[in-house]
Amino acid sequence: MIKISLPDGSVKEFAAGITSMDVAISISEGFARNVISASFGGNIVETTTPLTTDGSLILYTWNDEGGKKAFWHSTSHVMAQVLEEMYPGIKLTLGPAISNGFYYDVDFEDQKISDADFKIHKNRILEISREKHEFRLRPVSKAEALEVYKDNVYKTELISNLEDGTITFCDHSTFTDLCRGGHIPNTGIIKAVKIMSIAGAYWRGDEKNKQLTRVYGISFPKQKDLTEYLELLEEAKRRDHRKLGKELELFAFSSKVGQGLPLWLPKGAALRDRLEQFLKKAQKKAGYEQVVTPHIGQKELYVTSGHYAKYGADSFQPINTPAEGEEFLLKPMNCPHHCEIFNVRPWSYKDLPKRYAEFGTVYRYEQSGELHGLTRVRGFTQDDAHIFCTPDQLDQEFKNVIDLVLYVFGSLGFENFTAQISLRDQENRDKYIGSDENWEKAENAIINAAADKGLKTVVAYGEAAFYGPKLDFMVKDALGRQWQLGTIQVDYNLPERFELTYKGSDDQLHTPVMIHRAPFGSMERFIAILIEHTAGKFPLWLMPEQAIILCLSEKYEIYAKKVLNLLENYEIRALIDNRNETIGKKIRDAEMQKTPFMLIVGEEEEKNGTISVRRQGQEGSGNMSVTIEEFAAIVNEEISKTLKVFTV
Ligand SMILES: [Zn+2]
Ligand SMILES: [Zn+2]
Repeated sequence: MIKISLPDGSVKEFAAGITSMDVAISISEGFARNVISASFGGNIVETTTPLTTDGSLILYTWNDEGGKKAFWHSTSHVMAQVLEEMYPGIKLTLGPAISNGFYYDVDFEDQKISDADFKIHKNRILEISREKHEFRLRPVSKAEALEVYKDNVYKTELISNLEDGTITFCDHSTFTDLCRGGHIPNTGIIKAVKIMSIAGAYWRGDEKNKQLTRVYGISFPKQKDLTEYLELLEEAKRRDHRKLGKELELFAFSSKVGQGLPLWLPKGAALRDRLEQFLKKAQKKAGYEQVVTPHIGQKELYVTSGHYAKYGADSFQPINTPAEGEEFLLKPMNCPHHCEIFNVRPWSYKDLPKRYAEFGTVYRYEQSGELHGLTRVRGFTQDDAHIFCTPDQLDQEFKNVIDLVLYVFGSLGFENFTAQISLRDQENRDKYIGSDENWEKAENAIINAAADKGLKTVVAYGEAAFYGPKLDFMVKDALGRQWQLGTIQVDYNLPERFELTYKGSDDQLHTPVMIHRAPFGSMERFIAILIEHTAGKFPLWLMPEQAIILCLSEKYEIYAKKVLNLLENYEIRALIDNRNETIGKKIRDAEMQKTPFMLIVGEEEEKNGTISVRRQGQEGSGNMSVTIEEFAAIVNEEISKTLKVFTV
């Protein structure tokens, strides 16, 4: 008999040799029908693999990451079968599942695959799938495997690196591939497929190697799922922050300035400034003090902090002063500077916590191929702060930071998030610095604070930084995509490295604990996510322009200016469009800019001292005629729905 533990904590006994599918059936026949993959003892197994030892079993359905991976990887086998059928003699290499679908890297040699044929490939994949072929893993000897693939240099290379006795082939239908496993029971559940695209990819990602063709695809158990996925992709394209950033005139890149270095245009800068002011205001209430530090620091600073040893080789190389022989680094982190601010004078426990905040711009070298719009850049500004406190204050400080992060998310319309508590790997404690006592204190502080604030949490063992545990906020955007935003980290390391001290109530010197935190993360990345989450329709309080005054003709320009002045008195941000264009064209342009309110002024309005209000995106719903005062009340009411006052 073997003991199998299940994710719900239960342990069941079975005869050795039972398969995952049999275990699933023993739980419930209905459940078993949905099981498509499994992992045993931390390794992916086939649902038909006999289990012969004790271990923990996880059964996956399509709704689990593990299920999707097996589903997509299995489809890549069927796609490879079809490609081999249609392009005889091609050399198959590797075909893994990825976060959305799968690919197969193929050496087509002198043959060519064209996207015009994607539909033919797809139909053939579905035809084979409908025949319900089982995926069967078969052990082979190294010699046998090498013989089968003697004409395929890629597979030969893969096999050469494997140990004899560990090699398996996977058979389905008439097709066989070298594979270590992770398949769905049979092809019959693949009901919808799409070949997405082809791209060049070097063998093993090395540009010295031959360039192969990567064929991307995705598959689903229902046609409806594929349709929804494709709609989501279209919507993501429409919301791409690089596209909207250009249309809304928020930011730009210049090849002359350099790759990965965003230029903020006036509207984008205004938006960014508004975000900064919003956070500064809340931080002031929460007892933070603003500091400012330079963009560079002596290399020694980062040697002390440990950043140089960790990131030095991969970052921008030092700036030298030839006359004096000094070396400076572009600041990759603000923390060392803030430690030195703490070090300026002695502190007593009564002075703590000290909370230093800075919108600090940092520079990190990213390879040009890794750069992506505002989400991967080489220069960015963190909404950074470091809290220096006594170990006893950690609990409360952590809770306060959570409050601030929740306030930020709420004001910006991110309602769907989870918090990941990243703790030490229980088994490899030597990887981490600091005493067990401090770690336990810090881990408990995070767990308690998260529970106290009612956060939806997941615990990730082994995900802590080497210097302390952390809490990361994972936010789902309007398209259901997950992003990591704010982070709160506890750190015992830097205060020691910088020899930070305070005098305790015992009159002895102690080392403070440090909290690193950034609710936005980086301004650049946050704004990119915000653009895609809102499709450019930012919360009203944040819009660069909240209203645009559209003159029916030049005759009403003077009245429009009067309206603008009145709006300014109410602190409403507005512009006048007095171009010699039709009102239809002006409305279309304002719609494109996502300006929330269009205020139309003509003869009637001038006579009555009113404006005719049209709401962005509400075509055909007649305009509303109101006074400026009434309009200001509408704006303020809407703002107060999202932008609450931060209280401590
Ligand atoms: Zn496989
Ligand atoms: Zn920091």
